[in-house]
Amino acid sequence: MSKTQSAIIVGGGIGGAAAALSLAKVGIKVLLLEQAVEIGEIGAGIQLGPNAFSALDSLGVGQVARERAVFTDHISLMDAVDANEVVHIDTGKEFRDHFGGPYAVIHRVDIHDTVWQAALKNPLVSYRTATKVVKININQNDVEVIDEQGNSYKADVLIGCDGGKSIVRASTLDDKPRVTGHVVYRAVIDRDDMPEDLRINAPVLWGGPHCHLVHYPLRGGSQYNLVVTFHSRQQEEWGVTDGSKEEVMSYFEGIHPRPRQMLDKPTSWRRWATADREPVESWGTGRVTLLGDAAHPVAQYMAQGACMALEDAVTLGEAIKACDGDAVEAFKLYQEVRIPRTARIVWSTREMGRLYHAKGVERQVRNLLWKGKTQQDYYKALDWLYGWKEDNCLLPR
Ligand SMILES: Cc1cc2nc3c(=O)[nH]c(=O)nc-3n(C[C@H](O)[C@H](O)[C@H](O)COP(=O)(O)OP(=O)(O)OC[C@H]3O[C@@H](n4cnc5c(N)ncnc54)[C@H](O)[C@@H]3O)c2cc1C
Repeated sequence: MSKTQSAIIVGGGIGGAAAALSLAKVGIKVLLLEQAVEIGEIGAGIQLGPNAFSALDSLGVGQVARERAVFTDHISLMDAVDANEVVHIDTGKEFRDHFGGPYAVIHRVDIHDTVWQAALKNPLVSYRTATKVVKININQNDVEVIDEQGNSYKADVLIGCDGGKSIVRASTLDDKPRVTGHVVYRAVIDRDDMPEDLRINAPVLWGGPHCHLVHYPLRGGSQYNLVVTFHSRQQEEWGVTDGSKEEVMSYFEGIHPRPRQMLDKPTSWRRWATADREPVESWGTGRVTLLGDAAHPVAQYMAQGACMALEDAVTLGEAIKACDGDAVEAFKLYQEVRIPRTARIVWSTREMGRLYHAKGVERQVRNLLWKGKTQQDYYKALDWLYGWKEDNCLLPR
C-alpha cells in the first residue's frame, strides 16, 4: 500500500464540497475544479434526514448546519384529492432520540456554504472556477484531467462529483440515464405570500393522480419552498429550463383547492425534467471513483440525493483511514458499501414516486397501507435509512 498524497475533485456542488472537506481531513491535498464561474448552489430548499446530520457532524460542521436549519415538527403525506392526512411522522424529541439526530429543512445556499467554507479553511484545499473538465487520462501512476482551455492537472486520484451528467462517469462507464418523464417545478416565496393554512412547520407532501406537491419553511419560516411534480404529456429531455405558470396549472386541475392554492403564488418557476440511472456494479477502477449524483442520480421523492452525497463523502474519508491512507485501495471498500446502499435508495425512490402519484384503486390501497401505522412502525421502517452513522458507515446497510 502507498499513501495517497493528492486528489482532483471535479464539481463543486454539495457532494464535491463535502468530498474536499473529508479528503483534506485525512491529509490528502485536494484540487477542486468547477465549471461555473462561482462555487455555490441554486436558490431552493432541501430536506435533511438524521443521516445527513450524522454526516455533517462527522465533517465537523453539524453545529453550523443546525443553526441555519429549520427543525420540523413532523413529516406529512396528504391525499391531494380529498385533503385528508395519510401519513404523520412526528419528528420531535422521540424521533431525534430514536435516530440520534433531527429532521430539518434548509436553504441549499446555506448547507452548501456551511460545508464549503469549512473546506476552504483547510490549507490542503484549493480550487479553480470557470474550469470545465473535458478529458480524463488514467495513467499507471497518476490521473490527468484537461479543461476546456487545454490546461492539464495531475493528481494521484480523481473523484467525479460532477453531477448527473458526469464526464468522469462517462470516461469509465458506458451507461445511459433513464429519463423519468416526470417534471419538477421549484420556487421559493416569502412567508406573506404563503396561504395561512399552509404555513406548517413540516415538509408536507400532497400526493395526487400522476402528480404531487411539497411545501416547507426555510430560514426561520421567513420563506417557503414549493415543489410540484407531474407526469409530462410530452417527450422530455433531462435538464433545466424556464417554466410557465400555464403549464403548471394545466397539470393540477383534479386536486383539492387547499393544495391547489399554492400553485398561484410563485412569480417565477424553474422547470426540471428529471432522470436517474440504473445502479451499476462499479463506479470506476483504480484511481477513479464517483460520488453524489455522478455516482447515483436519483429522483427527489425520498429527499435523499444530497444526504447520500454527504454520506458518500464521510464514507470515503473513513475508507481511506481504514486503508492506511491508500485511496486506491479505499475506493474499492467505499464502492463495496456505497453501491448497494445507494441502489436501494434509487429503487425505493421509484416505488415512492409510484405511491405518491397513485390514482384510482392504487390510491385507495396506498391510503390503506399507511392507515393505522404507529410512530414506532414508521421509525422501525426508517431505521435502515436514518440510522446511518460514521461508526457503521463501512458496514453493509
Ligand atoms: C427537485 C429536487 C428536490 C430535491 N430535494 C432534495 C432533498 O430534499 N434532500 C436531498 O438530500 N436531496 C434532494 N435533491 C437531490 C440533490 O439536490 C442532489 O442529489 C445533490 O444536490 C447532488 O449534489 P452533487 O454535488 O452530487 O451534484 P450537483 O449539485 O449536480 O453538482 C455537480 C457540480 O459539478 C459541476 N460540473 C459538472 N460537470 C463539470 C465539468 N465537466 N467540469 C467541472 N465541473 C463540472 C456542476 O457545475 C456542479 O457544480 C433534490 C433534487 C431535486 C431535483
